[in-house]
Amino acid sequence: MSIVPVEKLFTIFSETADILAEELSCTYLEALAETGENMFHGDILQDELSELSIKRIKKIYNELKLADYSREEIRKAFQLAILKGMQQNIQPNHQMTPDSIGMFIGYLVSKFIDQTSYRLLDPAVGTGNLLSAVLNHQTDKNVQSLGSEIDEVLLKLAYVNANLQMHEVEFFNQDSLEPLFIDPVDAVICDLPIGYYPNDLRASDYEIHAESGHTYAHHLFIEQSAKHTKQGGYLFFLIPNGLFESEQAKHLHEFIKNHLYIQGVIQLPLSMFKNKQAAKSILILQKQSDQVKPPKQALLVDLPKLSDGQAMSRILKQIDGWVAENKK
Ligand code: SAM
Repeated sequence: MSIVPVEKLFTIFSETADILAEELSCTYLEALAETGENMFHGDILQDELSELSIKRIKKIYNELKLADYSREEIRKAFQLAILKGMQQNIQPNHQMTPDSIGMFIGYLVSKFIDQTSYRLLDPAVGTGNLLSAVLNHQTDKNVQSLGSEIDEVLLKLAYVNANLQMHEVEFFNQDSLEPLFIDPVDAVICDLPIGYYPNDLRASDYEIHAESGHTYAHHLFIEQSAKHTKQGGYLFFLIPNGLFESEQAKHLHEFIKNHLYIQGVIQLPLSMFKNKQAAKSILILQKQSDQVKPPKQALLVDLPKLSDGQAMSRILKQIDGWVAENKK
C-alpha cells in the first residue's frame, strides 16, 4: 500500500475537521465524525455553517473520490486523524487499538475461524479501529459484525469509520456490562478496558464478581463475552500481562476452568509498549462444548518485533503448524 493516498486522505479528514470544529464549537474528534459523515453521504449535513466555510469544505471534498481508496487506506487515514484528535485530548482509557495489533488479531481470527459466514462481536468497540482492521483481513468471508461502546463520540467515530469502509456493523451505544440484547456470536474480539467497574450491583450478577469492593471491568468483559458466544466459539482478548496474577485472578481462573478452554497466549513484544507494566498479550479462548476438546497443549508464543521479518515468519509458521495440529 502506498503511503501517499493515506496521507492525502488524512489531510482531507483533518483540514475539514479543523474547519468544522471551529464553526461548530466542538472538539476535533466530534468534528471528525461530522466530516466523515459528510464524506460518506457526499453532502454537507451541518446547516449552521457560514457560506465561506461551506465553500472551503466543498473545495477540499472536491479533491476526493472515496471510491479510489481501499478499505485499509481509509482505515489508516481515519486512524491517523483520530490519533491527532486523541493527542489533543488524552483519555487513557479510550486508547485506540494500534494498527499492528489489529492486523495481527485479524490474522489470528482468519486462522482460527473456518466458517465462511459468521457473527463477530467487539463489546468495547471504541473507534472501530480494531474491528475494521480485523474485518479487512477476512477476505472471502461473510462476517456479520456487532460493536458496543459506552462513549458516544467514540461510537459515532466507529459508525462513520464502518460506513466509509463499507462494513455493515450493528452498533449499540451502551454499557456493555449491562444486559446486551443480541443473538449469540461465533467470535469475540476485544481490547479490554482495564480498571474497576463502579457498578457493584450489576457486577453481582456475574459469577466472576469480587466478594467485596469493585470487580475488575476487564474480568466482567471476559464473562460477558463468553455469555454471548456460541458453544465452541472463539474469543480473542488483548489483555495486560499481569491478568492472571492480580488479587482477583482466582475468580477468573475458576470461570475459565468451568466455561472456556485456553487455546493460546501470545505475548506482544515489550518494545511496543511504554514500559513493562503497560505490556500486553493476546489471550485466545474457546467456549466449551460437548463437540470440542481442549487443545493438547496451549499455543504459547513470545512475538518478536514485528519489524523482524525473519523471526516473524518463523513464528507465523509455528502458529500455522499449531493450528493445523490442534484444529484437525
Ligand atoms: N478497540 C478499540 C479501538 O480500536 O478504538 C479500543 C478499545 S479501548 C482499549 C476500550 C474501550 O472500552 C474504550 O473505548 C472505552 O470507552 C470502552 N468501555 C469501557 N468501559 C465500557 C463499558 N462498561 N461498556 C462499554 N464500553 C466500555
